[in-house]
Amino acid sequence: MSVSSSNMPQREPVLRIGIILPIDKLKKVTISFTDSALYEIETEKQLNPSSEAPDTLDVSVNDVDMIIRKTVDVFDEHGITIHDVPAGRGFHWEKTIDVTAPGNVYITNQKDYLQVTNEVPLEQYLACVAVSEMSARCPSAFLEAQIMAARSWLLANRGENHPDLQIDVCNDDCCQRYQGMNNFSEDARQSTEACRGQVLTIKGDICDARYSKSCGGITEAGANVWPQKDLDYLVSIEDGEPAFCGPGFISEANLPEYLGSVDEHRSYFRWDFEILQEELTDHMNKIHSLNGKAVLGIENEKRGPSGRIISCDLVYLDSNNQQQSKHLESEYTIRQTLSPSFLFSSAFKMNLKNVQKGIPGSFSFEGKGWGHGAGMCQIGALGMALNGSTAESILTHYFPKAKLTRIYSS
Ligand SMILES: [Zn+2]
Ligand SMILES: [Zn+2]
Repeated sequence: MSVSSSNMPQREPVLRIGIILPIDKLKKVTISFTDSALYEIETEKQLNPSSEAPDTLDVSVNDVDMIIRKTVDVFDEHGITIHDVPAGRGFHWEKTIDVTAPGNVYITNQKDYLQVTNEVPLEQYLACVAVSEMSARCPSAFLEAQIMAARSWLLANRGENHPDLQIDVCNDDCCQRYQGMNNFSEDARQSTEACRGQVLTIKGDICDARYSKSCGGITEAGANVWPQKDLDYLVSIEDGEPAFCGPGFISEANLPEYLGSVDEHRSYFRWDFEILQEELTDHMNKIHSLNGKAVLGIENEKRGPSGRIISCDLVYLDSNNQQQSKHLESEYTIRQTLSPSFLFSSAFKMNLKNVQKGIPGSFSFEGKGWGHGAGMCQIGALGMALNGSTAESILTHYFPKAKLTRIYSS
């Protein structure tokens, strides 16, 4: 969905970013300060700093609500570190990390669970997103393209993913990856400044500019990934010949230095994955509340132009040895169903292995790409930037129907 031109901000907005959410079910959080003299805390309860580390506080759900304000209005290296923040909720790279947040932090009680919200101006948020999604070592043309795509996405989707939490976005892959100042670099700040206020627009509206890690060679059509949204301008394109996201532009040995700090170091342009019958059946039963005995395979695959399966039927034997099928309607559901750690993409060929009496002993996948594949291919954009492309030519390549517009400069 795109935002009408009347909703375009005339100046830089301030954002509320959910760092810890009620779904994390946390009752206690530890925070610390790189320099506590720069902060004041508004709260009605008495807080007791840890005796070993006086700049560290344990905050329980009974202590809130509180506002921690930065008393100086500068975007510097100082922040509030929130410990053990979930990253990659529900994906194969899920872990917890410490996040050092710029700006102000609100800690509130949401139905007996903690919510931690970071309040920062949009441009500071974007500088942090650029180096959370990918590494600060990426060339500035990549960082600028990433920042303009992230700014457009944010303004087109602000508040939509978490309507009940009074936040604009969360910190995670569900919205855009935001790890505060963790990977912050001067390059990220300069790249943000260089494209301040610039967004992708189409017919006067801000584009819902999507992106994912690797398209695998051809990007997916937006309409195949989000059929309920009007994203026809996210057209499928061939991502270079040879592919900008392939080993011809970035060797697998060099890729890790450019990836985000929470990303696994492995191959994403082409990948293999294998799962045992029992593990897949258990997982399918759990995800879809079924009572299957064995998975037999998938049928009726419908594929998009990138090779991603956008719907299919998962065929299985039920507990009475009757053949049944479960319809999987989106690339997201397919990836969620076929691996407990979330499959890298739905562009795969599934092979049945060790079949005995019609029942496979395991399933192997030959896949390509990482993520939904629509819009900007991040590794492809990196390949283009390393090859001398400008931020503008990268965005024109991935969003051929859009143009760049500066909507605010103050
Ligand atoms: Zn979110
Ligand atoms: Zn690509």
